[in-house]
Amino acid sequence: MEPMSEEPLIPHPSVGDLSVGEPTTGGSSLRMVAFDIDGVVLRGDTLLPAAPPALADVLGRGLLLRYVTNNSTRHRVEVAERLAGLGLPAEPGMVLTSAAATASYLRSEFGEGASVLVVGGDGLVAELRDAGLEPRHARSTPQASVLAQHSGAPQHSGAPQQSGAPQHSGAPAAVVVGLDVGFDYATLAVAQAAIRAGARFIATNADATFPVEGGVLPGGGALVAAIAVASQREPLVIGKPQLGLARALVNEAGGEAAAVLFVGDRLDTDIGMAVAAGMRSALVLTGVSTRADLAVADAASPDFVLETLAELSGVLDGLLADTRLR
Ligand SMILES: [Mg+2]
Repeated sequence: MEPMSEEPLIPHPSVGDLSVGEPTTGGSSLRMVAFDIDGVVLRGDTLLPAAPPALADVLGRGLLLRYVTNNSTRHRVEVAERLAGLGLPAEPGMVLTSAAATASYLRSEFGEGASVLVVGGDGLVAELRDAGLEPRHARSTPQASVLAQHSGAPQHSGAPQQSGAPQHSGAPAAVVVGLDVGFDYATLAVAQAAIRAGARFIATNADATFPVEGGVLPGGGALVAAIAVASQREPLVIGKPQLGLARALVNEAGGEAAAVLFVGDRLDTDIGMAVAAGMRSALVLTGVSTRADLAVADAASPDFVLETLAELSGVLDGLLADTRLR
């Protein structure tokens, strides 16, 4: 199969359903508060102290509560269990992840049983399987073993030995890339070969960094960039700031973007998506973006800037009073 020509970054196909760039102060009343997780509710595995009362306050006001993450390493059930285990109000139906959105996109694009090569975590593999696809991890393919031999990279044990050129039997319809803590040269080579042979290149997200206790680690976007350079193709990105996750939230909130307040720690992804979707937005300074980042010329402008989630209740007071007056 002839390799595809350079593929431009194209928006998620669901974008057309949303009004883009509408003012966020329209007359619709607030119905939902959606929170990014890393840097907003948690930092690494540590619960941020202002989160539990803020989340309880949202539910106490009768508003819908949702958790939205670009992190594709965990299944929604796992995310909900992790949050509930920390004492937060959470069940799987309240969680949206880029992994689930990617699985649903691939199912609609390629149909049941489509073969998907995965560079990512077990949660991503599980979401793809739940959606009726046939995922296999790039690391577990025979090609990975062969390519590891060619590259001199250490081999993963247990893979069958083969000789000669990389095999392309059962060519995958897509290569799906998210954060993969076991990422190595052989994985990169297998993903490169599949994309160059014609598989669609899909990224669950393009986050460069990932906030943890005391600093940041490389995000899924760092691996996506390596694969983009090696394959000389650009990915289709599914997570924030693309609008697929926003569309799902707006639908659940009754179809009006301004009925959703999105709370995030990143200007480029969280606030970028919220503004483009026409949602209300609040940047909380407990994660990646800082007050200095707000001054950058092309930075997205949130409606509110909060030092911590402790300031959310004042924002909700204002928004709810505002819509009562209309
Ligand atoms: Mg975050």
